[in-house]
Amino acid sequence: MKFRKIGVLTSGGDAPGMNASIRAVVRTALDNGIEVLGVVGGYRGLIDDNVRKLTSRDVSGVIALGGTFLLTDRCDEFKTPEGMAKALETCRKHEIDAIVAIGGDGTFRGATDLTNHGIPTIGVTGTIDNDITATDYTVGFDTAMNTVTGIIDCLRDTGESHARCMVTEVMGRHCGEIALYTAIASGAVAVAIPEIEFDVDACVKRIAELRAAGKRNFQVIVSEGVGGYHSHFGEELAKIIEERTGVESRFNCLGHIVRGGQPTLRDRLAASCMGSMAVELLLQDKSNLVVCELNSELVPVDINYSFAIDRMYKNKLKDGDLDAYTEEQIAEMRDFCARKSAHIKELYSLVEELAK
Ligand code: ADP
Repeated sequence: MKFRKIGVLTSGGDAPGMNASIRAVVRTALDNGIEVLGVVGGYRGLIDDNVRKLTSRDVSGVIALGGTFLLTDRCDEFKTPEGMAKALETCRKHEIDAIVAIGGDGTFRGATDLTNHGIPTIGVTGTIDNDITATDYTVGFDTAMNTVTGIIDCLRDTGESHARCMVTEVMGRHCGEIALYTAIASGAVAVAIPEIEFDVDACVKRIAELRAAGKRNFQVIVSEGVGGYHSHFGEELAKIIEERTGVESRFNCLGHIVRGGQPTLRDRLAASCMGSMAVELLLQDKSNLVVCELNSELVPVDINYSFAIDRMYKNKLKDGDLDAYTEEQIAEMRDFCARKSAHIKELYSLVEELAK
C-alpha cells in the first residue's frame, strides 16, 4: 500500500462539523490499515511539529461537538518558503505520506502548496459561509443558519411586543448566503447581501406600508460583507429605517455566536461522508482535490478548478486563469456560475415576495 500514515488538520475559520470530519477521516483510514496523525492548530502545527497519533477512541463522542478539537489557526508563515520547508520537515520526520486539510478557501490554497511540494493533499470543506463556489454545500453552513434562525425567532418575539424593526448582521464574509437563506426561513421583510445592490428606498417604503397596515415586527437581515467588510451597514440602515418610517429600530450584530454550537444532522452527515471520501480518494492515488457536493452527490473537484470557478463567479478572473481549460469546460463553468447567480436572485425576490 502506498500510504501508511496520513495527517489530518483543521485550518482557518472554525465551523461546526469539523470534528465529525476528523472522526470520519480517522476511522476510514484506520479501517484501511492507515495510521493517522492529528496536526494541532492547522498549518501552524505542521511548522511547529505539533502532531499526535489519533486512535479510534480519540475521536469518540466528538461527532456531537462544535469547534475543532484539533484546534485551528491562521498562519501566514506557512505561505513562506521557510514555513513550507519546516512543514515538509515535520512530514518527513513523522513519515506523513499525505494530508487531509479541513477548512475553507485559504486552507485549500495551503493544500495545493503541499501537493506541489510532494505531499498529496485532499481538501474537505469546513466553513459556515458556504462561500466555496465549486460546491453547493460547505460543512458548518446548516448549523450556522439554524443558530441564526433561532435568534431571529427570539428577536421576532420582542419586536412584536414593542412594534420594532430588528436589523441583524450575520457572518458570511463576501458571501450573502447565510443572510439570504435565513431571511427566507425567518420571514424577514428584507435582506441585504453583497451579491445584489440593496434598495434602501424600497425597504423603507415596504416597512412603512406594512406598519400602516398593522404589521408590528420587522426583521431585516444584513450580511456582514455589505458596504465593505466590517462597515456594519446594518447599523446605519437601522437608523435610516427609524428616521424614515417612525418604526423604532434596533441593530443586532450576531458576530461569532453563529460559529459555535452542536452541529446539526445535515452537517454531521456531510462531514462524515466528505471526510470518509477524502481518505478513499487518497487510497485511489488522487490528490489536490476538494470534496464537493453537487446536486446532492459528492464529487471530487480539482482544487485549481475550484479557485478558477470561484474567481469567475466573483468576476475576479486574472489573465491565464482559464488557460488550463478547454472551450467546452469554460462554457460549462460559465453556465454553472450563471445558474448560481440566477438562483441567488430568485431567492432574493422570494424574500420580497413573501414580505407581506
Ligand atoms: P479559510 O481556510 O477558512 O479560508 P484562511 O483564509 O485564514 O481561512 O486560511 C487558513 C490558512 O491557510 C492560512 O492561515 C494559511 O496558513 C493557509 N493559507 C491561506 N492562503 C494561503 C496561500 N495563498 N498559500 C498557502 N497557504 C495559505
